[in-house]
Amino acid sequence: MKLVIPASAESWVDAVQVSDFPIQNLPTSVVDSHLGRVLAVRIGDFALLMDEKLMPDQVDAHGRAIRAKAYELLSDSSSALAKDNALKRSNLVPIQEVQPVVDPSTIPAFVDFYSGIYHATNVGKMFRPENAPLLPNYKSVPIAYNGRSTSLIGSDAPIFRPKGQVKPADGPPEYVPTRELDFELEFGYFLAGGNPRGSCLAPDAAEAQITGFVLVNDWSARDVQRWEYQPLGPFLAKSFATSISEWRVHPDAIELFRLNGIEQDPAPLPHLATSGRQHYDIHLEVWLQSAEMTSPQRICHSNTKHLYWSFAQQIAHQASNGTPIVPGELYATGTISGPDEGMFGSMLELSWRGSRPITLHETGELRTFLLDGDTVIFRGWAQGEGYRVGFGELRNTVVGS
Ligand code: CA
Repeated sequence: MKLVIPASAESWVDAVQVSDFPIQNLPTSVVDSHLGRVLAVRIGDFALLMDEKLMPDQVDAHGRAIRAKAYELLSDSSSALAKDNALKRSNLVPIQEVQPVVDPSTIPAFVDFYSGIYHATNVGKMFRPENAPLLPNYKSVPIAYNGRSTSLIGSDAPIFRPKGQVKPADGPPEYVPTRELDFELEFGYFLAGGNPRGSCLAPDAAEAQITGFVLVNDWSARDVQRWEYQPLGPFLAKSFATSISEWRVHPDAIELFRLNGIEQDPAPLPHLATSGRQHYDIHLEVWLQSAEMTSPQRICHSNTKHLYWSFAQQIAHQASNGTPIVPGELYATGTISGPDEGMFGSMLELSWRGSRPITLHETGELRTFLLDGDTVIFRGWAQGEGYRVGFGELRNTVVGS
């Protein structure tokens, strides 16, 4: 059963309704803590450490029993936790006292889609100006590639400027640090499981396998990408780093923020056909701070509603040839740009392939692509009446290679 926590619900924990993590959210992360490596539920600026003292008797692959238990403990001011000061001291700890863990060895696959239709349109306009911006397959096939999970990292992990093969216009290829380092504003989700090998998955059943959502920055080296991608697609230009926000937001926490997506025309083939509201109203922002700046500047605001293909369709497409999907896989949507210039989700688009540098107003610096010392910050939330279900910050700084 879904656990949709009403707007009227409150927690006895201090000041949580003004944060990204009110009682309506209750996202989870594995953390290192004074109790060891445990699963934690976030509430405001605290982590509830779900060790054996607090774990429900039965757990499920979708995380609902743990979230329901945390809701009971944190909402009821006479709960076993609220009444027990020793238990509170040991298991409800300030967020500064835990370290969220992103462990790639627990993430068997990373898949990156290309479902942001405004991003795909912009890229087409830049690189194929003589043709229609969208390739003929775009509205038929949810375009994607099977990526690399070993480079998944969390917030605050450094981004080492990658080296790669680059082909200057007027010379032979060289192996150098990328000069066109970029971010990609994406959204992602983890899966509880999927289909046995040889069988497929209908979109509705596929969506039910989502266990949590995160912000995703799919770091990219555009000059490396330009030289290597033909004819097989992305390889080293994408696989050096992908960062994710650490607190996984349960699908039930954003259930109230569903909406209809972009109308799909032509209608998808039957195995990708969906009904009902398969998209979400989640506001996304990108902020940039150079080494010289004292505070970050917002350079992009977008929304997950700008995706052409829904999460359900992405998963169903992956499974549609019978490849098995296994627990713990991470899927990302592709860059989510909006229709207007302030909504572009990559430096490639914001600077229009380097031809229109953006100005950092505090210092007057110009940017086409990212320089060493630049910090990129993603934020995202669904806005409710008097509260928000947020994803926190995903923050990474570029360092030299
Ligand atoms: Ca991407």
